[in-house]
Amino acid sequence: MGHPIEKEFEEGAMSKEIEVTWLGHSTFRIEAAGKTILIDPWVMGNPMCPDNQKKFDKIDVMLCTHGNGDHIGDAVALCKRHQPKVIGIFELCMWLGKKGAKNTSPMNKGGTQTVEGLRVTMVHADHSCGIQEDDGSIIYGGEAVGYVIEFPGGLKLYHAGDTNVFGDMHIIRELYAPEVAMLPIGDHFTMGPREAAYACQLLRPKVVIPMHFGTFPMLTGRPKDLEKVAEDLGIHVMEMKPGERKPLSVAQFAPVAKVS
Ligand code: MN
Repeated sequence: MGHPIEKEFEEGAMSKEIEVTWLGHSTFRIEAAGKTILIDPWVMGNPMCPDNQKKFDKIDVMLCTHGNGDHIGDAVALCKRHQPKVIGIFELCMWLGKKGAKNTSPMNKGGTQTVEGLRVTMVHADHSCGIQEDDGSIIYGGEAVGYVIEFPGGLKLYHAGDTNVFGDMHIIRELYAPEVAMLPIGDHFTMGPREAAYACQLLRPKVVIPMHFGTFPMLTGRPKDLEKVAEDLGIHVMEMKPGERKPLSVAQFAPVAKVS
């Protein structure tokens, strides 16, 4: 807190438009334009998720990056309770539908669909996507993905899912230019801070929100490990605490008038 960009989020005229709450690991609840969006629904078994954040008033849209349990652990239960529109890659949506999710909206990489006023583009991720069944067997879940979400008002947020850095992050920057990037930094199962710093160079967002760290002892990367490289690039590392809610201002990202 105290960084100018976060101050402007808080003081900006439109700062209440988008509110992000980190539920730990890769799970985020986002409130925007009256809708509640949940990315990677893992709450009940998520050791980072505070108890008072495990219940939801409503979920309008659910986005799933891939089929590993630490990302879709509560997808089926929350779908049955709240009936959200569920976005995922085709095979994962078929599986969720078979388990009882009613409103799946399957897609694949490179595609964009508009759901509840959000423009959602599915992008590549470099990771595995097996789904573990109750008996422990692993079944094919399609491929791991990330999302670029464009909110009403124009703010673009990239949730990378679980991934290593990959060169096509440059394409994500050139095509979508997300202002905010949620990047895994924990290491071991995803990229660590070294790779995430390289991802910052490729993506050049204004703000990075680190995720997928600290949940388990082996996820050793920390936001401070990323800070120097990011700040040298003019990127603010916005560290969140589990359960913490922060505004993202659309006004903050309005084009700046050129001084000639
Ligand atoms: Mn994971």
